[in-house]
Amino acid sequence: MSDYHSKNQEQKAQSVIAYFTMEVGIDPKMPTYSGGLGILAGDTLRAAADLGAPMIGMTLLHRKGYFRQHLDSNGNQSESPSEWSPQELLEPVEPRAAVTVEGRTVEIRAWRYAVQGINGHVVPVYFLDTSLPENSDWDRELTDHLYGRDDHYRLCQEVVLGMGGIAMLRALGCKEMQSYHMNEGHSALLTLALLEEYTRKSGSPTPTEVEKEAVRQHCVFTTHTPVPAGHDRFSLGLARQVLGEERVNTLTSADCCVGGMLNMTHLALSLSRYINGVAMRHGQISRDMYPSYPINSITNGVHAGTWAAVSFQRLYDSYIPEWRRDHHYLRYAITIPLDEIRQAHAEAKRNLLAEVERRAGIHLDPTAMTLGFARRASTYKRADLLLSEPDRLKRIVRQVGPLQIIYGGKAHPRDEGGKDLIRRVLRAAAAVRDLVHIVYLEDYDMALGHYLCAGVDLWVNTPQKPQEASGTSGMKAALNGVPSLSVLDGWWIEGHLEGVTGWSIGDSWRTASVSAVEAASLYDKLEYLILPTFYRRPDAFAEIMRYAIAVNGSFFNAQRMVAQYVKNAYLHPASEADPIFRTGQRQD
Ligand SMILES: *Cc1c(COP(=O)(O)O)cnc(C)c1O
Repeated sequence: MSDYHSKNQEQKAQSVIAYFTMEVGIDPKMPTYSGGLGILAGDTLRAAADLGAPMIGMTLLHRKGYFRQHLDSNGNQSESPSEWSPQELLEPVEPRAAVTVEGRTVEIRAWRYAVQGINGHVVPVYFLDTSLPENSDWDRELTDHLYGRDDHYRLCQEVVLGMGGIAMLRALGCKEMQSYHMNEGHSALLTLALLEEYTRKSGSPTPTEVEKEAVRQHCVFTTHTPVPAGHDRFSLGLARQVLGEERVNTLTSADCCVGGMLNMTHLALSLSRYINGVAMRHGQISRDMYPSYPINSITNGVHAGTWAAVSFQRLYDSYIPEWRRDHHYLRYAITIPLDEIRQAHAEAKRNLLAEVERRAGIHLDPTAMTLGFARRASTYKRADLLLSEPDRLKRIVRQVGPLQIIYGGKAHPRDEGGKDLIRRVLRAAAAVRDLVHIVYLEDYDMALGHYLCAGVDLWVNTPQKPQEASGTSGMKAALNGVPSLSVLDGWWIEGHLEGVTGWSIGDSWRTASVSAVEAASLYDKLEYLILPTFYRRPDAFAEIMRYAIAVNGSFFNAQRMVAQYVKNAYLHPASEADPIFRTGQRQD
């Protein structure tokens, strides 16, 4: 315990940014994430540790994980719990906290994971856990399932994350944080906990504009969803049941109840001093959705040390040894001989194909051009666009050269549209089976993402514009010299240089998506540009691989992203004065 206390002292002195997230992809052995949002959180914490940023992470334990995906031969998805052993991977900490849920006291403990940066700096991440004998059976399960069960369960979880997270910070001895960063709206109730603290401190009977401004000066909010339906909302009746009348009145006074619903995005918008979307375009879309708030953009990035395949890590270590400390140096990949890039890629491809064989028992051809498509099975991602014209696809293969496609991705258990998409992909795959080998791998996760993004020859992305907030898997691919063929949306608007870092599907990000037009563009590029380059001009293809690393790997990485959060969000000058004395209005 003395060891714990010294760590705690150290932290008290150091931590100034608290990063709150519902999900986090911190360790491939911990199923505490569902997809891009959680992976981004993990990459943020890893990059913060590299940069020596005084950050501390807060999340829920998710003892039963997200879920394991099983697919039958028709592509019907079923799910099973993804159990894991927190005691094997995390260190329990002593302090306890509590929150009030439906008038009951729910006791919370925490488990610590130390994210260690390249120079040894540690960013501690706390996983909140309600599985304690003092709690009722129902409350004990509150930190079991990520995005599981119903709205009632979810709102109670958000109380534990937001309000319980603040209580746990205090129990750990972290008093005045400079910034509380909400990674999406799930943790927005932390603003309510802060508002109550400031109101108690000032002695005001109810929160006034002074206390709200004090909260605002400390909060940073990153929104990730470009469609209003994707935002977290709860009925006011449910909110009253879970939070009580008084707290709901406080929330109502913070402009966060829209259309008779408690809206977590509005709560976070209303009580943050710095707000951002996750790519240039996503910032614009968010400003259109919420015109009364100042919304900036910080484009996402991926943690290079985590997502580079072993063969590329070796290559970078020998040509640009500074890259681990400072990902910007990946720009110098322009000096790496093309042959060595090809060899590193061939190794990553062999490893992927061996993994496909291990998981699915299917042997793929290492010399055939291999396309990758793996992401949440959500209808807007249009996983079936690539297979929408089977005859055209077959003709391309007959005329230009072989093609094989590896798919992966889970549908949320309640997303019938997403589940149907998987079935459609498998049906379409059957229709081209004689000419195009297509594999849909079960249970897409960090480990599989590692193999896939590095081992395919081309990364394909077909979101319906403008619904891809950022996308990060194409960044992982670029880091491994894998070019993208993608609709111009999210990060690709910024990362795309035609024929240099990859290819676009369609030619403008400003126009709405029309599936038939985009499918035609996708097939044209494959037939006339990409496959001919791959099969007949290998040096030209390797040049594109090298530019993907040098141009995109050097920018779309998490160290650059965290540095931008430090410069634009965390060190905002308005946060320097003691907030309780600041009564100025937000600058819109
Ligand atoms: C990177 C990653 C994602 C996010 O990818 P997108 O391009 O945003 O869809 C999702 N799931 C896993 C397992 C990943 O590794």
